[in-house]
Amino acid sequence: MADGLPFSRLCVIGGGLIGTSLARAAKASDAGIETVIADASASVVATIRDKGFADRATTNVLDAVTGADLVVLAVPVGAMGAVGAAIAPSLKDGAVVSDVGSVKNSVLEDLAAVLPDHVHLIPGHPVAGAEKSGPEASRATLFVNRWSILTPPEDADPAAVARLRAFWESIGAMVEIMDAAHHDLVLAVTSHLPHLIAFTIVGTADDLETVHKSEVMKFSAGGFRDFTRIAASDPVMWRDIFLNNREAVIEVLGRFSEELSVLQRAIRWGDGAALEAAFSRTRAIRRGIVEIGQDTDREDFGRDLPAPYSQS
Ligand code: NAP
Repeated sequence: MADGLPFSRLCVIGGGLIGTSLARAAKASDAGIETVIADASASVVATIRDKGFADRATTNVLDAVTGADLVVLAVPVGAMGAVGAAIAPSLKDGAVVSDVGSVKNSVLEDLAAVLPDHVHLIPGHPVAGAEKSGPEASRATLFVNRWSILTPPEDADPAAVARLRAFWESIGAMVEIMDAAHHDLVLAVTSHLPHLIAFTIVGTADDLETVHKSEVMKFSAGGFRDFTRIAASDPVMWRDIFLNNREAVIEVLGRFSEELSVLQRAIRWGDGAALEAAFSRTRAIRRGIVEIGQDTDREDFGRDLPAPYSQS
């Protein structure tokens, strides 16, 4: 490792949106880190090579992790255990092994069961992303001003945690450390439930579509359009998130159903005061998100109007 740098070689397994963005961010930073990406798909590897998104790209995971002092798994949550087992024989002594999976408890369990004792397992989750998949959708700036949550096990080496924190900070992220189970509950509320609602609403509209297909499309700017963006997220990734964060999602879904029933009752009985109180509370939450810089205050989420309405 060069002086002052947290790591000298990063190996990312899974060259999709998040994995390739991570390698590109590391390459673009002044951390002087060598970047290697391994992916199961030859066409993904070819794209990464063609575009120069990493210093090296290969389909051979054992070869890829050899000599890496930071290994980050960026595959769907359900594949983490199998990938961990596949790379285990080649991992360098003292390497930090992390991941970017959207669920943490199951990943911690799956990886702890297969990784050797001579590496430091520190799971992580960058709260940044998009509804697009694959290396072509990657961006070197994806993690700038975004939170990256690290969920080290209780017995994790503090020095290894500090190095991983320094790495994320070197690519512009803000780092928070929490317990894996707490992470899963927080993300069930802030990400998993909203996605489930979006999948449901878009599905409901699709069922109505046979009757009102053109209206659903035409008047989508009324709110529906914003749900469709979330509902376009990768099906495999989201299947794995719900299968692996079952308990927390069921817990928040129960609370959501209760809140929904309260609003349903207020609408049925014409209780305007209750509706106004509920919507004032949620408006304040939106204001808070903008104030801490986690979204833009520009009209319509800062969307550019399509031509001929846009002004350049
Ligand atoms: P993605 O664009 O679909 O990339 C995943 C990549 O992993 C694909 O190239 C896939 O190849 C490859 N892969 C799958 N199984 C593999 C295996 N066994 N060995 C090697 N490569 C394998 O997905 P992503 O959005 O980057 O998500 C990756 C991880 O990041 C997931 O765990 C997700 O929960 C997490 N995450 C996603 C977001 C987001 O907004 N997208 C945000 C934060 C965290 P194939 O295409 O050939 O299967």
